[in-house]
Amino acid sequence: MEQELYIFNTLTRTKEKFEPIHPGRVGLYVCGPTVYSDVHLGNCRTFISFDLIYRYLLHLGYKVRYVRNITDAGHLEGDRDEGDDKFAKKAKLEQLEPMEIVQKYTLGFHDVMREFNLLPPSIEPTATGHIGEQIEMIKEIISNGYAYEINGTVYFDVEKYSKEFPYGQLTNRKLEDLLEGTRELSGQDEKRGRLDFALWIAAKPETLMKWNSPWGWGFPGWHIECSAMSSKYLGETFDIHGGGMDLQATHHTNEIAQSQACNHKSPVKYWMHTNMLTVNGVRMSKTAGNGFLPGELFTGNHPLLEKGYNPMSVRFFMMQTHYRSTLDFSNEALQASEKGYARLVAAIKTLENLKASASSTSNIKELEKACYDAMNDDFNAPILVASLFEGVRIINSVNDSKETITADDLLLLKKTMHSFVFGILGLKSETSNSSSDKALQGAMEVILNIRKDIKEKKDFVASDKLRDDLNKHNIIIKDTKDGPVWEIPE
Ligand code: AMP
Ligand code: ZN
Repeated sequence: MEQELYIFNTLTRTKEKFEPIHPGRVGLYVCGPTVYSDVHLGNCRTFISFDLIYRYLLHLGYKVRYVRNITDAGHLEGDRDEGDDKFAKKAKLEQLEPMEIVQKYTLGFHDVMREFNLLPPSIEPTATGHIGEQIEMIKEIISNGYAYEINGTVYFDVEKYSKEFPYGQLTNRKLEDLLEGTRELSGQDEKRGRLDFALWIAAKPETLMKWNSPWGWGFPGWHIECSAMSSKYLGETFDIHGGGMDLQATHHTNEIAQSQACNHKSPVKYWMHTNMLTVNGVRMSKTAGNGFLPGELFTGNHPLLEKGYNPMSVRFFMMQTHYRSTLDFSNEALQASEKGYARLVAAIKTLENLKASASSTSNIKELEKACYDAMNDDFNAPILVASLFEGVRIINSVNDSKETITADDLLLLKKTMHSFVFGILGLKSETSNSSSDKALQGAMEVILNIRKDIKEKKDFVASDKLRDDLNKHNIIIKDTKDGPVWEIPE
């Protein structure tokens, strides 16, 4: 089925029809975590939102190269190159090597992503693994005249750049407004312009993570890593770049400027930004100290939590708000999601035992279309969830003999519920995704194919024996006009 997908593009502030640069293929880059501490639930919201987007693009049949980086160097405490290196500070605190900090929190991040059932990206590049690419890019920006070096630090010249290209497009702000929001330069500042930012930062004697470069020992600025890694793996212009909304004003604005100054091209066709997870209206963040960790959420071991919640209920909670709206955390909302999710999973189990009739009282094709329409409208998961609950209503009504469904519609209903709930929303029930379940599914496919071959050779005695033998193991095969299906009655 051909689907027309619309995406809200931050760059144009409109929903645009999605047309990939290369038909059938999508390049997707998402800013990954800064691995100097555990990821909090807010970070998870952003990664889960892009997992939904990745899953839907795959479902539509696109060949997606999904790059999500690991920031393991260069992220200073201030957005604009002030403050300490986050890794060095943590390394001192925990008395570890900076790379031990990186390893510890990268592993922790992967564990959390697995708990929430995220698909791994196609490439997960690290900033420290791409220092050479970052240096090359900085050299090119200098030779194109958009950066300058002072005492071993290289600054991007925003004022010069903004004479030729719009700076601040992503947040729709003019240079004058941006200048107003920054402090005056003092005598201590090396940089020429208030908005200039560092591409390369000279090492101080105490700097732990440093590399040699044409400008001496130092380390890359935070913004350049994403420009270098995205262009390396996805090309100078690629389809979708995502991250949290907090990255729009500085990190992504500077990514656009760097790529434009280096490659003479705007790097991204569709910019996508997720809104923030808040706690009592305040953005969850590491610095605000209101960021509870997924582990605390699962065990309930935090003063803000009334009890523990399982990862799938939390994922479902996140799916009930559109990714561009803020999502406020509360125990009541999570408990409501827990109940809703249990109802959804129970209905999917019931679906396996529904009996077909001669006619349908509900229009399942329309239900399927409503699910696609929701996702095609800028990945509107809450509207999708509402349609899936219409599916739940139909399942329960058929089960209670208040409604009827044909065999064809039953198959379509199963396909729709399974692909949207498990494949696209990325939820799993204990029984639907276990490895033994998957093995059984695979084995049954093999058996049904053998049975088909036997029947084609008109050996009906053997095919009936196969069916009866499976029956003895409580596996029922039914021949429908769309081919054989199997089930295990409870
Ligand atoms: P960081 O590890 O701080 O670089 O953040 C990783 C990702 O999480 C970025 O895309 C941020 O924009 C995103 N993020 C940070 N805080 C929140 C929050 N409270 N809600 C949603 N996303 C967030
Ligand atoms: Zn980034």
